[in-house]
Amino acid sequence: MNALLTRLRGIVGDAQVLTHDDPATDLSAWEQDWRRRAYGRALAVVRPASTAEVAAVVKACAAAGVSIVPQGGNTGLVVGSVPDDSGTQVVLSLARMNAVRGIDGDNLTVTVEAGCVLQTLQDAAEAAGFLFPLSLAAEGSCTIGGNLATNAGGTQVVRYGNVRELCLGLEVVTAQGEVWDGLSGLRKDNTGYDLRDLFVGSEGTLGVITAATLKLYPRPAAQLTAWAAVPSLEAAVQLLGLAHRHLGAGLTGFEVMGQFALSLVAKHFPQQRVPLWSEHPCCVLLENSDSESEEHARGQFERLLETAFEQGVVSDAVVAESLQQAHALWHIRESIPLAQAEEGLNIKHDISIPVSKIPAFCAETDALLQREVPGVRLVNFGHLGDGNLHYNVQAPEGGDASAFLRDMEAQVNHLVFDQVRRFDGSISAEHGVGSLKADKLPVYKDPVALALMRSIKQALDPQNILNPGRVLS
Ligand code: FAD
Ligand code: ZN
Repeated sequence: MNALLTRLRGIVGDAQVLTHDDPATDLSAWEQDWRRRAYGRALAVVRPASTAEVAAVVKACAAAGVSIVPQGGNTGLVVGSVPDDSGTQVVLSLARMNAVRGIDGDNLTVTVEAGCVLQTLQDAAEAAGFLFPLSLAAEGSCTIGGNLATNAGGTQVVRYGNVRELCLGLEVVTAQGEVWDGLSGLRKDNTGYDLRDLFVGSEGTLGVITAATLKLYPRPAAQLTAWAAVPSLEAAVQLLGLAHRHLGAGLTGFEVMGQFALSLVAKHFPQQRVPLWSEHPCCVLLENSDSESEEHARGQFERLLETAFEQGVVSDAVVAESLQQAHALWHIRESIPLAQAEEGLNIKHDISIPVSKIPAFCAETDALLQREVPGVRLVNFGHLGDGNLHYNVQAPEGGDASAFLRDMEAQVNHLVFDQVRRFDGSISAEHGVGSLKADKLPVYKDPVALALMRSIKQALDPQNILNPGRVLS
């Protein structure tokens, strides 16, 4: 191991190889996951500054038979970016590779290094007069490499797609330490298998993403936010249909929030004024991005809400009068996971179901849960426009939250995931598989798909050097 560390120091410089040998160095930021569900121990944290350095590090580790855990902002939610506790893995941090390499305005593309923080990229796009539409609550610390490796979603997928849809080209260091330069800004390229889409969503198990060429969009002339109380989930789905028809491509956000989820924000963050939650089973947050003007966007919203009221699909609604009000409404939505954490440990599910089946899925699954775990509380919210729910399960009122997580997680997961399968859904919509759900894929993924995935892993990383045990157990 010492020979490997010496070699790594030769590649990236002494200061960029951090180990436990130095008692003054605290590696916990790289060894603990964001949700504090896993505490690993690394052989070393290595921080290369260029693609050539990444390639040399991977070659050295492969030659020594030492496995690598790629890491960006370490905000992932499925325990994929931290080492195991063996003390034998190298954490490969991309954080120093954070340059925006260039913007091609006519081609509407930006080329950026993997360690660039998402918000930095959004700001660079804005400064050049464009929009980079990926948006999620972790944007101040997650990186574009991590976003691509997990195929991140977020709040604008209903219009712009997951980051997969935003990606035109990649630069990747293979498990053998070779560099694939696929940084084309081409929107059309049918020259064989799509390697780019193989690496997007591969969670560091097939290659190390070092840079990407991504799509840019014109900035909308106006963005308006509305908050609507709806009488049921069925009504929320009907409202989504109306919003698609009335707003067309202007519909850039459609989030649903159950009453209990909103009650937690009202309880734990009383300084936030949560509108309309107490008398309605759920509320919806809509965003309309318009290429014409604010008046036009407002007119569209008014006509949409008028129709929705007439059809009984909306019970009450407010449209934000200012940017500040719009931010406050989005802040309520983003505060749900934090309010939930304040309430105590809970069992999280990031699931997707065809939108049309969501009301029936929730009605049935809520009832089953109540039957099996009486008093359980459902924190149900998420990106309804994409069929993606964060269907989280909180201990009964006054119950011991850690005991609930310890004793009930397996049973609750089993019940919820079986229901997801029955309703043709996915047990991971946007967060990925990591280690947390790797043992679930053999149960819930199509066996032929799983066998193909294993063949791909074997072909690209026969030594099992890259993030072993993640995705495929
Ligand atoms: P990390 O956590 O460092 O890594 C994630 C995975 O990618 C790991 O498997 C890692 O090995 C791999 N990886 C990282 N960088 C590379 C690379 N350069 N090459 C190859 N593999 C790599 N996700 C959503 O999709 N939508 C949301 O709305 C959303 N909201 C969130 C809100 C909060 C508050 C938090 C904490 C997380 C949220 N997430 C969300 C989770 C999401 O997966 C991450 O925030 C983000 O995409 C991960 O980026 P990261 O740089 O932190 O990656
Ligand atoms: Zn989400």
